[in-house]
Amino acid sequence: MLHNDVFEELMNEEELNKTVSDIAARINADYEGKELVIVGILKGSVIFLADLLRKITVDGCQLDFLQASSYHSGSVSSGNVKIVKDVTCNVKERDVLVVEDILDTGNTLSFVKEHLLSKGASSVKICTLFDKPGRRKKPVTADYTGKVIEDLFIVGYGLDYSERYRNLPYVGVLKSEIYS
Ligand code: 5GP
Ligand code: MG
Repeated sequence: MLHNDVFEELMNEEELNKTVSDIAARINADYEGKELVIVGILKGSVIFLADLLRKITVDGCQLDFLQASSYHSGSVSSGNVKIVKDVTCNVKERDVLVVEDILDTGNTLSFVKEHLLSKGASSVKICTLFDKPGRRKKPVTADYTGKVIEDLFIVGYGLDYSERYRNLPYVGVLKSEIYS
C-alpha cells in the first residue's frame, strides 16, 4: 500500500531488486582484479548501497562513506557544496566508485568527484540509482544508472524529503502539495 503522501509508485521492491542486480553485474565485470573502494554518499544512498554491496563480488573491495551538503532542507539545491564527513579509507591509487541515490543538478557529484581525484584516486566513477538529466547544471554523467526519470521529486528506499520517507521499501513520487 502506498504512503498517503506518495502520489504514484515509481519502482517497487521487485523492480528495485532487478535494477540493483543489473548494476552489480556490470560493476563486477568492470572492476574484477582492481583495488575498488566503494564510497556511499550519506544519507540517501544507504539502502541502495546495502543491497548493491551484497551483490558485489570484487575481491578485497572496501567500503567508505562521505557526506556532503548542498541541500539545506526542502527540495531546492544550492550550488554551494561542503564536505560534512570525509572518507577515512586511503583512496590514493585506488579505483573509487561513488554510489549516490540520485543525480540531479550535478553540483554534489562534480564536487565529490574532484575532491576524490585530488586525494589521488586512480579513477572515480559514479553509480546512481536515479538520474534527472533535465536538471543538470554541471557537466557530470553517471557511469552506472538505474533509471533515468523526469523532473519529479521522489522519496523512499533511502531518499528523503526533509528527513522523512527514507524507510519506504519502494520509490514513489511525492505529492506536490507536500513540498510546494
Ligand atoms: P545535486 O547536487 O545533483 O543537485 O543533488 C543531489 C542530491 O539532491 C541527491 O543526493 C538528493 O539528496 C537530492 N535530490 C535531488 N533530487 C531528489 C529527489 O527527487 N528526491 C530526493 N529525495 N532527493 C533528491
Ligand atoms: Mg543525497
